[in-house]
Amino acid sequence: MTLLGAARISAQPQILLSFDYEYIRQGMAGVVNLSGADVLGGVIETLDRTYPFFPVTNGFASLVSVPLNQKIKKDYPLSVTVYLKDGSSVKSEGVLRVESGEYIRESNFVIPKDRMYLLDPEIQQNEDLRLTSIYSVVTPTRFWEGRFATPVNAATTSPFGSVRSYNDGSTRRHTGVDFRVTTGIPISAAATGRVVFARGLDIHGYNVIIDHGWGVFTNYSHLSQIFVVPGQVVLQGEIIGLTGNTGRSTGPHLHFEVAVNGNWVSPIEFLKLKMPT
Ligand SMILES: [Zn+2]
Repeated sequence: MTLLGAARISAQPQILLSFDYEYIRQGMAGVVNLSGADVLGGVIETLDRTYPFFPVTNGFASLVSVPLNQKIKKDYPLSVTVYLKDGSSVKSEGVLRVESGEYIRESNFVIPKDRMYLLDPEIQQNEDLRLTSIYSVVTPTRFWEGRFATPVNAATTSPFGSVRSYNDGSTRRHTGVDFRVTTGIPISAAATGRVVFARGLDIHGYNVIIDHGWGVFTNYSHLSQIFVVPGQVVLQGEIIGLTGNTGRSTGPHLHFEVAVNGNWVSPIEFLKLKMPT
């Protein structure tokens, strides 16, 4: 073997790819880590979406999220493209296993008569589209440090992902988790980020959306008062509004949503996720 040949062999790109999960449940997220001396960045493609890698202390990390209604399947195609410092790239193919989110059914959601029109499928569809378009923005800056916190110190009443049946006979998926609170309780930002939406919507009522960067958003709904404006940077724990009963709500509570790369994910599971730093 010539020296040149040996040099070529030793110049094989060093790429270390590790998945923090064996599978991802419907409506949840998983972390993928990428490192190596020759790595400049990368991107994951799966479930018709692109999940970029962002720089962390020891390399790069990506947050892959699975839609709430994704069919359970063992082998969705997943590809990783790694960009190298010499300008080339390496693509590898793998699979993503999606398991059940084991979401429950909840019946007897009685919307008051004067708000029944909010069960109109067109209003629902318009609002879903509006929110998912906000949630699909990927800001490369990571505003948060460490773990996300619960926005209010209260018990949860209704879990994320449940299939809810309403008094008009229709069913809807629950895109957040509900906390049991009365009206007027201060709500704090789950993590540092930039406010991107702070006004009323038909279903979510008065709500605040915070962009935390890396495609992670939190939403605080049915508020009675909002104390922040779009563009404002809020710190973790900062009071952003007061709980209420606005929008399609059956009584005072806080509806709290987390979205990752355009998909609603379980807020409680997301708070437990070991986030890269
Ligand atoms: Zn809710």
